[in-house]
Amino acid sequence: MHFHIITIFPDIFSSYLSESIIGRAIKNKLIKVNFYNPRDFIKAPKNNYKPMDDKPYGGGPGMVIRAEPLLKAIEKAVNSIKSKNKKILIVNFIPSAEKFTTTFAKNISKKYTDIILICGRYEGIDARVDKILKTKKLSIGDYVLTGGEIPAMVLVDCVSRQIKGVLGNHDSLEEERVSTSEVYTRPEILKYKSKNYKVPEVLLSGNHKKIEEWRKRK
Ligand code: SAM
Repeated sequence: MHFHIITIFPDIFSSYLSESIIGRAIKNKLIKVNFYNPRDFIKAPKNNYKPMDDKPYGGGPGMVIRAEPLLKAIEKAVNSIKSKNKKILIVNFIPSAEKFTTTFAKNISKKYTDIILICGRYEGIDARVDKILKTKKLSIGDYVLTGGEIPAMVLVDCVSRQIKGVLGNHDSLEEERVSTSEVYTRPEILKYKSKNYKVPEVLLSGNHKKIEEWRKRK
């Protein structure tokens, strides 16, 4: 899977993409991530300087990212994809859009070879980009963030773990088994501020059926 991230703040991604499971997946060439900065596409003749963002029509606070540099950055991403069998999805992150889910991540991990992620900032991006490119609009939850970079990282992470080889053991995928967030490891009895905290008996029983039932209940 090849991710193409359209952002004016590419440095935000560097530590996340170089560590742990995602860092290893990139090193092992299971996934690839490239960046395209709309700022690189605003070089105009000296007296005809065009900013990357501008005031919103209709008034109001904040700035809107202009369509032209964004479209050029996206075009560069599309043109960089040489594969004959390419299947491209373009995602635009919008707080009020359809929610991104694991089921959606699983589907797109199978269906597409390349995913282009547009990270909005400020008041958002010029809405004509959506009309021209017919993007898939996605939200990562009912809250407003300052930009689309965290949503892009969420999508890269969630889609990547669906790709065989990214998790050391593919059976680790929570959605493929009975899983709970109530998990324990050693020691069996944790002493903290003169109190003892024990691991639930059932997890020490070795009875897999009972453990499975307990996890389901949880
Ligand atoms: N004015 C926009 C609105 O009313 O929908 C919100 C703009 S928000 C401050 C800036 C950018 O952050 C958005 O364009 C979007 O790319 C991203 N963003 C913020 N919250 C998000 C969320 N919950 N899900 C997906 N993207 C989000």
